[in-house]
Amino acid sequence: MLFTQFNFSTELLDGISASGYETATPIQEKVIPIIIEGHDIIASAQTGTGKTAAFLLPIMDFLIKHGESNQVRALLLVPTRELAIQIGQHIEGLSYFTNISSIAIYGGNDGQNFVAEKKALQSGADIVVCTPGRLLAHLKMGYVSFTGIDFLVLDEADRMLDMGFQEDINSIIAHLPSKRQNLLFSATMPEKIRKLARSILNNPKEINIAISKPPDKIVQQAYIVFENQKLPLVKHLLQSITHRCAVVFCGRKQDVKQLTKELKHAKLLVAEIHSDLSQQERETALQHFSSGRIPIVVATDILSRGIDIDTIDLVINYDVPHDGEDYVHRVGRTARAEAVGRAITIVSQQEQGKFAGIEHLIGQVIEKPILPTELGDAPSYNPTTKRKSDNKSKQRHYKRTPKK
Ligand code: AMP
Repeated sequence: MLFTQFNFSTELLDGISASGYETATPIQEKVIPIIIEGHDIIASAQTGTGKTAAFLLPIMDFLIKHGESNQVRALLLVPTRELAIQIGQHIEGLSYFTNISSIAIYGGNDGQNFVAEKKALQSGADIVVCTPGRLLAHLKMGYVSFTGIDFLVLDEADRMLDMGFQEDINSIIAHLPSKRQNLLFSATMPEKIRKLARSILNNPKEINIAISKPPDKIVQQAYIVFENQKLPLVKHLLQSITHRCAVVFCGRKQDVKQLTKELKHAKLLVAEIHSDLSQQERETALQHFSSGRIPIVVATDILSRGIDIDTIDLVINYDVPHDGEDYVHRVGRTARAEAVGRAITIVSQQEQGKFAGIEHLIGQVIEKPILPTELGDAPSYNPTTKRKSDNKSKQRHYKRTPKK
């Protein structure tokens, strides 16, 4: 489903496309219309499913369409400072072309931040994302007014309860107006979450997006490489692994085009599929592929859902997919029907953390074979290595001026 189908304002659509999102994830498809209709929600959804944008986008669209105000309009409670920072960055990206202001408030930083947070709370940043303890510290000082709140979001609610935030959450809610829309997201749904939901939510719609897992008969592997080893490795794999039909997935269509060129240059018989091609061109490519005339197709995730070609016996992820859901869909293109299949993911240094997240999500540690010696030394596998984007965490997340 395309984001244009949600009737979002243009400046939000610009932010969505600048963030690189093309189609809505399953949870976004389900959750966004319900939030737009004004219902409360209780959703079981894990990280990696696109749940953050699922609640951020309809909230932002509401804020854009209901004009500017100098009050806090949406309060997002999260368990950890890392998640607060990450959501703050998400908001910055998606709201880039809007006038929406936001701040991430979390404990454990210096007094200077406290002053900036106080200022943002007093002047009414539109969206406040915070850990419960730190917010309570501000609330106790008496300068915070939440009378303009339209939305309360509890993200990773199960973790918040596990971390002992129940009482803090109750104290914060006591400061909110009773007429508001409540959205609760949780990876698991134990009874204590249902109890919390009953006390906070008003006649909620329930959404359940359980992530499926790749079938056991798919042999999954991952090579850990330096970025410049990706191309030689994909060529090596396609040339050395006997296959009938292979799909190579890339997250971005530019990469599909470039890789197709490189593989053709290496004398491989390849077709490409991405959204810059017409429907007719895509269908022809797919037909050549499924009939066996062209044994390799390089494609974006538009091919990761729905196609059912039972001769695909090799899937190569040229990059780590955005989320666990996409990973499962990509590797699920192989081993259809009774066939056995192999799925290989090529993981660069920057992608190690993301890949570990996917392993966590599907509950499997994927085998990591040694890189063929002719391709040189591989980096060591250390998924706790900070990703590039983590450096941004030092930024302040408060902006009032539109960045047109
Ligand atoms: P989340 O489950 O919210 O932590 O999101 C997981 C990752 O998916 C984040 O890196 C998001 O930026 C990304 N993401 C969210 N929605 C989409 C989408 N519709 N298309 C592509 N990537 C997305």
